[in-house]
Amino acid sequence: MAAKAFKHIIVGGGVSAGYAAREFAKQGVKPGELAIISKEAVAPYERPALSKAYLFPEGAARLPGFNVCVGSGGERLLAEWYAEKGISLILSTEIVKADLASKALISAAGETFNYQTLMIATGSTVIRLTDFGVQGADAKNILYLREVDDADKLIEAIKAKKNGKAVVVGGGYIGLELSAVLKLNNLDVTMVYPEPWCMPRLFTSGIAAFYEGYYANKGIQIIKGTVAVGFNSNADGEVKEVKLKDGRVLEADIVVVGVGGRPLTTLFKGQVEEEKGGIKTDGFFKTSVPDVYAVGDVATFPLKLYNELRRVEHVDHSRKSAEQAVKAIFASEEGKSTEEYDYLPFFYSRAFDLSWQFYGDNVGDTVLFGDNNPTTPKAKFGSFWIKDGKVVGAFLEGGTPEENKAIAKVAKVQPPAESLEQLAKEGLAFASKI
Ligand code: FAD
Repeated sequence: MAAKAFKHIIVGGGVSAGYAAREFAKQGVKPGELAIISKEAVAPYERPALSKAYLFPEGAARLPGFNVCVGSGGERLLAEWYAEKGISLILSTEIVKADLASKALISAAGETFNYQTLMIATGSTVIRLTDFGVQGADAKNILYLREVDDADKLIEAIKAKKNGKAVVVGGGYIGLELSAVLKLNNLDVTMVYPEPWCMPRLFTSGIAAFYEGYYANKGIQIIKGTVAVGFNSNADGEVKEVKLKDGRVLEADIVVVGVGGRPLTTLFKGQVEEEKGGIKTDGFFKTSVPDVYAVGDVATFPLKLYNELRRVEHVDHSRKSAEQAVKAIFASEEGKSTEEYDYLPFFYSRAFDLSWQFYGDNVGDTVLFGDNNPTTPKAKFGSFWIKDGKVVGAFLEGGTPEENKAIAKVAKVQPPAESLEQLAKEGLAFASKI
């Protein structure tokens, strides 16, 4: 098979790839110069929709409705857009080998692709219970969610097990979002997680108390402090029971596992410098290998605001890092310079009628403000994180766009906090002053 050659190749066709393509077009990439090679069968889309509106029982989001860049209020890029721009969208094609020294990628079908510049945008994959050898974890209807194909399998299972029992393993944001949509689909939902409260990597006990109370009021059972250690299945190989470490056994027709992700860097192991589990980059997303960039979930980049290297698995960063890398590629071609990436971490989630946003860093002391009583209709509350006398992080449930903007500003500006008591009392009013 003759090799195909492109000036620029993006490996991976997710959020970063889509936003990079838009920026390539903006910067004037010429027809035939850019290819996106993706394992998925569809044009880049806004991945967060998969655990939210994609699973709604009614009025569900469907492709091409949520192709990038609608998630950030931009133009929706359909497959035709790529064709019009002369960007090759090479779908259903998995790259199985990368040779950065000879600038070549090889697909599962044995095709070779050569490039001058490469953008690694392979994202993450889910951690599976079978990775840890959990007994019975390969049973049917034990499901995971990363790509649209996974979401379709989940929808099939929801239809097949109407009004059945679902067990959600994991108390992170995926577990919380999936529990909510499973409940909306009229399943009987139980969440299981080992930590003392949900989303412990971000939530304080005060924040989590609200969501756990809200979920309980919706009829979702929450079992904390234990893990799934095995599964029993029926004669058809379908999961029927979840065995917990504490000895309890839960009935289940569907099990959805959300226990975290792992950046997909294996193709490049030993060929590029890594750091903190990701591919190390500079503030322009250049890796240690000339002409190779890494963006989105796989990149470990200098987070200027905190003066440290971080890897960030959030959609906002995947969009912005992709745009930054493309700007850097064009600037270096033209012998110009661009500003270094200066990112303010931003993460959000939505479930039921709830919606929260978080900006900044969740380190140091915390104060809770507002009304976090889960029975209050349209509850509005939040938290500040305070380090070295400065407010460095802010969380808000139920904020208006203006209020969310105000907490973002707090996290960016890092204003001094007089006292924790004062901050707790002022709450949102403190943010509005900044
Ligand atoms: P991805 O979007 O994952 O894209 C990677 C692409 O590379 C995929 O198309 C994959 O198939 C392809 N690929 C991988 N390996 C190969 C290969 N060898 N050959 C070819 N193609 C390959 N973030 C938030 O901030 N808020 C949210 O509410 C939120 N919700 C989420 C909900 C779900 C269900 C998931 C899975 C993630 C969510 N995220 C959320 C995280 C966010 O979606 C990711 O951070 C973002 O998608 C990362 O973009 P990326 O381009 O790096 O990777």
